[in-house]
Parts: sequence; structure tokens; C-alpha cells
Amino acid sequence: MSQFDTYDSLLNSIVAESGDEVKNPATGEVVGIAPAGTPEDMEQAIARARDAQKDWAKLGEEKRNELLLAAADAIEAAAEPLAELLSREQGKPLNGPNARFEVGACSAWLRATASFESPDHTVVEDGETTAKVFYRPLGVVGAIGPWNWPMMISVWQLAPALRMGNTVVMKPSEYTPLSVLALVKVINSVLPEGVLNIVTGDGKVGAALSTSQGIDKLMFTGSTETGRKIVESTAASLARVTLELGGNDAGIVLDDVNAKEIAEGLFWGAFINTGQTCAAMKRLYVPESIYDEVVDALVEVAKNMPMGVGLEEENVLGPLQNKQQFDIVDKLVKAAKDGGARVLVGGEPDYDQPGYFFPTTLVADIDNDNPLVAEEQFGPALPIIKYSTVDEAIEMANSLDVGLGSSVWSADRERALEVASQLEAGTTWINAHGNVDPRIPFGGTKNSGYGVEFGVEGLKGLAYPHVVNG
Ligand code: NAD
Repeated sequence: MSQFDTYDSLLNSIVAESGDEVKNPATGEVVGIAPAGTPEDMEQAIARARDAQKDWAKLGEEKRNELLLAAADAIEAAAEPLAELLSREQGKPLNGPNARFEVGACSAWLRATASFESPDHTVVEDGETTAKVFYRPLGVVGAIGPWNWPMMISVWQLAPALRMGNTVVMKPSEYTPLSVLALVKVINSVLPEGVLNIVTGDGKVGAALSTSQGIDKLMFTGSTETGRKIVESTAASLARVTLELGGNDAGIVLDDVNAKEIAEGLFWGAFINTGQTCAAMKRLYVPESIYDEVVDALVEVAKNMPMGVGLEEENVLGPLQNKQQFDIVDKLVKAAKDGGARVLVGGEPDYDQPGYFFPTTLVADIDNDNPLVAEEQFGPALPIIKYSTVDEAIEMANSLDVGLGSSVWSADRERALEVASQLEAGTTWINAHGNVDPRIPFGGTKNSGYGVEFGVEGLKGLAYPHVVNG
């Protein structure tokens, strides 16, 4: 039994009497009130994290890993209430690769992070010299997150930080504070006091964290624009920074695929979380020889995917999380239409309905420089661009200033690998898109950020290498 085994007990444990009202983006109903944190609250949280850090580090890696596993158990015991809250606040459906999946990923990431081998290693041992590298805790880690996968991304930040002996201060997105408050509440039921802290609020509260002299590292996931501010704000503290920023991932289909076989994979590569995913496929390049086949197969899949209120079990696609994001998608789809592109499905939202629903939209015969291709839509509208040679497709895929994910779809692995080797991206998936795995490093190039998360490589980013020579 968990103390948070009902939705009401979980919600009541985190909501404030006054503060910021959070509404369900599918219905407009109030979900709860989140505390409106202040820069002073942030200072206090950083001080608490600092006070707790030395003892946390002294516990040792084995004990800390046990506590990460206990945190995974606590999340599993409260999984259904957590998923319900996430669905109400973020809008994502319970089913499909959405709310229940996200809560499952939180415990899976904690377990995986606790199971990795230590990154400590011997560099030279030749009889004369013995040099070893030990990865030591940095101190206090600040973690600032977005609203699309609020719980899972928080765990991506906090799990490796805690494992390496740091304490953490979280600042979740002002659009999804309740989900992260609830997650932290559940994890804190097993952690010592002061180790994991959270302050909710807007960008000013985020800036109070990133500009603080009291942090040693900042994990930031969000837009490229805010990422630039984060780098500036850490100039005085010289806090290290990991940046997971925006993307505009290209998928390239080669001419040897079976369109029907890959259609569902292409669909979910683009539409996971209703397109609100950093490493989702945001533009699809298809050779002219099989263009119509691929487009038809995608339309067939798209037509059958139910979109609606997250708590209704049949839905697998939901609303945009907020009005700002709805307006971005709406503007970009209008730009596609204005540019003469052909809308195959969707494209016409019902502006009078409650909720920020934008219908699943597929757009064909679109130019590579149309804004729906060149800008990050972060929503359920996929442009499908025709190409004639593979070199042309690679050039178009690499033409933007971001490089998070990418994918190549082919029946011939060698051909796919050859194309993958020419793509500028942190990850290239073959015959899939966006499949993240806690064991495999994940990060971006160009304006998609720097540093990697996950796996042993990710652990190294939450520590400093201490060489002992002799
Ligand atoms: P955002 O940059 O608007 O906000 C992210 C966070 O930064 C929020 O918590 C916000 O309060 C905070 N913030 C805002 N101004 C700040 C400041 N001056 N100082 C410190 N903190 C500040 O991003 P968003 O709209 O929440 O997220 C969507 C973006 O995130 C998309 O571009 C998406 O691609 C990207 N993203 C990237 C990844 C990845 O792993 N690369 C994952 C998810 C989302």
C-alpha cells in the first residue's frame, strides 16, 4: 500500500491554497493550485540541498542505488494516480505511448540508472605508473524542465545526479508543476530530507536557480532560446551545463521499403505525445518513386488514431498542452496551406471546442523551405517532402541549425547505415524514430544542445573526473 494510492490523496498532498491555477488542456477544468514559488524560495531550496549534500555523498554509491530502487518501487505503487494527474495536467491520454507509459518510464529509468557500472576506471597501469579516474560528486545540481514529458524528463535529470552523490533542486515548467510536485513527493517518501528539492514557478524562478552562485551544475531541457539565456546566466558561477534543446528531426525513407510495413512506425515516430516530443520526427523525406504509396499508407494509419480527452481510455492522441503551442501549430499549418501544400488529413481545428485540440495533420507536396518544415512545430502536423536523389534528401535533412534526432528507413541495413553516417544529429535511428533507452547516450548537436544524458556517459556528466596518479 502506498500513502498516495488514490488520486485524491496524491493531489491533496501537493496542492496549495493559493497560487497558480492549473487547468486541464483538454477540458479547461481546474486540476489544482500550484504554489507560486519566489526567488527567495529558490534560495532556501538551494541552501537545503547544500546542507544535505555531504551526507548524501557519504552514504556511498551502493546505498544511494538502493534508494533509487526504492524510489522506483514507490512510483510503481502510486503509478495509477500519478498517470491520472499527468493526464489531467499535461493533457496526454492514459493509453498509447502517453501517461501510463511515462510513469512506467520513470521507474524504469531509476532502476536502470541504479544498475549501471561505475564510470571509475584505470587509465594507465604499466608497472611504473598507475593512474585512475574517479568520478566525484559536483555538489548541488539544478534541474529545469519543459512541459511535454514533465515526469520522465525530471527523472532523466534527477536519477543520474542523485546516483553520483549530488543533491538536486528542480524547477518544473509552469505549465506542468503538479505532475513534477507529485513525482517528487512520491520519491521523497524514501529519500533523506533535503536531497531532492523542488520550487514551482515561472521563468523568473528558473532564472533564480540558473543564476545562483550556489549550484555546481545545471541540467536544462527546453527551448533553444531559453538555453542561450541559461548559458549566459551560468557565466558567474561557472556551473557546468547540459543542454537538451529543441529539434527538427528529419526522417529519410529509402526507395526499397514496404510502405505499409513501416507506416505505423513512421506515424508514432512523428506523433508520439501528439507530436510534442523533442526527438519526434518533424519532417519526412520520401523518394518520388514511392511517394504516393508512403503517403497513402500514412493516411490510413492516421485516420484510425483516436484523439480526445486523456482520461477516456480509447484515446491515444490528446490536445496541445497550451494555447501558445496551439497557436504555433495553427500558424505553421496555415503557412503550409498558403505555400500551396496539399493537406491530406486534418488541418482544420475546431476553434469553438473546449481544449487545445489540433487534428492529426499530414501535409504533402510541400517545399523544403516552407515554415512548417523549417521551424519546429512541436505538434500533430507532419510535412512530407518529396526528393529525387538520396544526396538531395541528406542535404535537406542537414540544412537546419538543429541536430537532435534523425532516422533512416530501409530494407537494406548497409544502405541505411551509409546514409546515417552522413546525417548531422545526436542520434540516428534505423527503421524507428525516437526510441530512447536508459542505457544509450542521448543528446544533440548544433543548436539542439550539448552534453549527453543516459547510460554511463550520462553519469559522467553529473560528476567531475578526479585523477589519482601514483
Ligand atoms: P522553455 O524553454 O520555454 O521552458 C523550459 C523551462 O525553462 C521552463 O521550466 C521555464 O520556466 C524555464 N525558463 C524560462 N525562462 C527561463 C530563464 N530565463 N532562466 C531559467 N529558466 C527559464 O521550453 P518549453 O516550451 O517548456 O519546452 C519545449 C521545448 O523544449 C521544445 O523546443 C522542445 O524541443 C524542447 N525539448 C527538448 C528536449 C531534449 O531532450 N532535447 C526534451 C523536451 C523538450
